[in-house]
Amino acid sequence: MALPVLWIVIPCYNEEKVLPITAPRFLAKLSEFIETQKIAANSRVLFVDDGSKDQTWPLIQKFAQTDPHYLGIQQSRNRGHQNAVLAGLMVAKDRADVTISIDADGQDDLNAMTDMLAAYADGCEIVYGVRSDRKSDSWFKRVSAQAFYRFLRVMGVDVVYNHADYRLASSKVLQHLADFKEVNLFLRGMFPLVGFKSTSVYYERHERLAGKSHYPLSKMIALAINGVTSLSIKPIVFIAELGAVVSILGFIGTIWAVVMAIKGATVAGWASIVCIVSFLGGIQLLSLGVIGEYVGKTYLETKHRPRFIISDQTWHDEPSKQPKA
Ligand code: UDP
Ligand code: MG
Repeated sequence: MALPVLWIVIPCYNEEKVLPITAPRFLAKLSEFIETQKIAANSRVLFVDDGSKDQTWPLIQKFAQTDPHYLGIQQSRNRGHQNAVLAGLMVAKDRADVTISIDADGQDDLNAMTDMLAAYADGCEIVYGVRSDRKSDSWFKRVSAQAFYRFLRVMGVDVVYNHADYRLASSKVLQHLADFKEVNLFLRGMFPLVGFKSTSVYYERHERLAGKSHYPLSKMIALAINGVTSLSIKPIVFIAELGAVVSILGFIGTIWAVVMAIKGATVAGWASIVCIVSFLGGIQLLSLGVIGEYVGKTYLETKHRPRFIISDQTWHDEPSKQPKA
């Protein structure tokens, strides 16, 4: 059987510090797989420049000149990690048999790719890279990451625990992923929806080799909220359930109030009224906010805007095949 063509897809945003260290490592890994006959010789390392403001794109262009296994595409502007990964995968899907997406910063252990390819050879179409421990993370990052996955699960989003975007996906899976048309992406939640045979491989996550993280707490919270509202309507169901409980309590309270009034035992009750009114006001505003989030998201999604726009690429020997965004 012919060896599979592998494309390693790497989103890069302002990574001029780390790319000179990690790019040769990606290439070395690719070459090792080519030499050991695990993948075809025309496999590639594809960098996706996500509209970087530093020297990332010129660096990628330089890499592409030094070795034909390096390729690069440039997004017309910064669109965020998820859209950058998708752009790379959509470019790769018609040219590779299998892809592995991985961050640019060297945090994810390249050796896990060996297990991923072995699982692929066994017939798995998706292989999730899962962190076996978080020793290298700070206490805060560990706790917030745990809260992140718990929150997603409770809210009805099916995600693989401790899996980020280090993942093998076959071109068959990517052809189907292309039919998922949402603009607000949460790939970790979308891949399980595509289905097919999948498995996980475990690896230790290291510290970033250089540069700094693009995911502070605020972005992580935004990613979690986006993940939930893109993939689940459980929050709205919760609101309806809360509304039902509050209505029942309100009904009981009304009966109690009427009975008290008939008995002539009514009291001043200023504090209780203030508490109830502010409590209900808070719940109503919160509920409106959650529903508004969905309405806003629906509005944005109905525009069907492109999820990525590729402004440049490092190869010129084939007609530029712009994948459908
Ligand atoms: N990234 C990107 N676009 C962005 C932000 C990040 O393509 O707007 C890339 C970044 O270059 C890296 C990956 O996404 O390869 C993950 O980002 P980072 O390492 O900063 O996140 P962390 O590992 O801290 O969660
Ligand atoms: Mg990182």
